Amino acid sequence: MEQFELFFKHDEETLRRWLEKETRFTVRLAVTENSTRMLSVKGVKGGVSVRLHRVFLEAPSDVLKEAALFIKKRRGKTPLINGYIRSKRESIKEGGGRRVVTRTRGEHHDLQSIFDSLNSEYFGSSVRALITWGAPRSRRSVRIRTLGSYGYSSGVIRINPLLDEKRVPGYFVAYVVYHEMLHAHMGVGMNASRRSIHPREFRERERLYKDYLRATVWEKAYGA
Ligand SMILES: [Zn+2]
Repeated sequence: MEQFELFFKHDEETLRRWLEKETRFTVRLAVTENSTRMLSVKGVKGGVSVRLHRVFLEAPSDVLKEAALFIKKRRGKTPLINGYIRSKRESIKEGGGRRVVTRTRGEHHDLQSIFDSLNSEYFGSSVRALITWGAPRSRRSVRIRTLGSYGYSSGVIRINPLLDEKRVPGYFVAYVVYHEMLHAHMGVGMNASRRSIHPREFRERERLYKDYLRATVWEKAYGA
């Protein structure tokens, strides 16, 4: 048992070499400011390519060990990493310290009340994320597929303002919110590689949403 916590306050290269030693892979490492994808791993020729948020440079050793194991297996639960990111949330706000201004009341849908009732119905009110309508974009630049997102270090769920329309049923908005809340609830491990953003466990839990069927049918029929 360790009597004290060992902190890495090293540069990228030290961390990269340490990860190679732990995983026995050749590691390509990029340190990022990307708070939506705190940790991502991709297999490349001869090894792995890892992208890590810069907060990992000063993470305690048990957190880094968990990261190394995750990089090695490219799956698994990451409770230490999730807790670490949560503890860092205040110091690494999205956009380098800008305060997050939330706007929850739309013209047709109130995100906070949707969030609150989903939280008590499905998560025992344990999800602490903030929620907001995203910034409106010009029609041309809208990426239709991105209906919602969750930033792991900021703890902010953003919902595409395109959904704040009368024709969009409340159960569909709630479905998108529920999806992002699941990301917040299940943690960063889910984000490791493209393939495992929504692993089986995620998909199974997603189906527990009571209007799942209705929402997916609506999306196919009328969605963007
Ligand atoms: Zn998702």
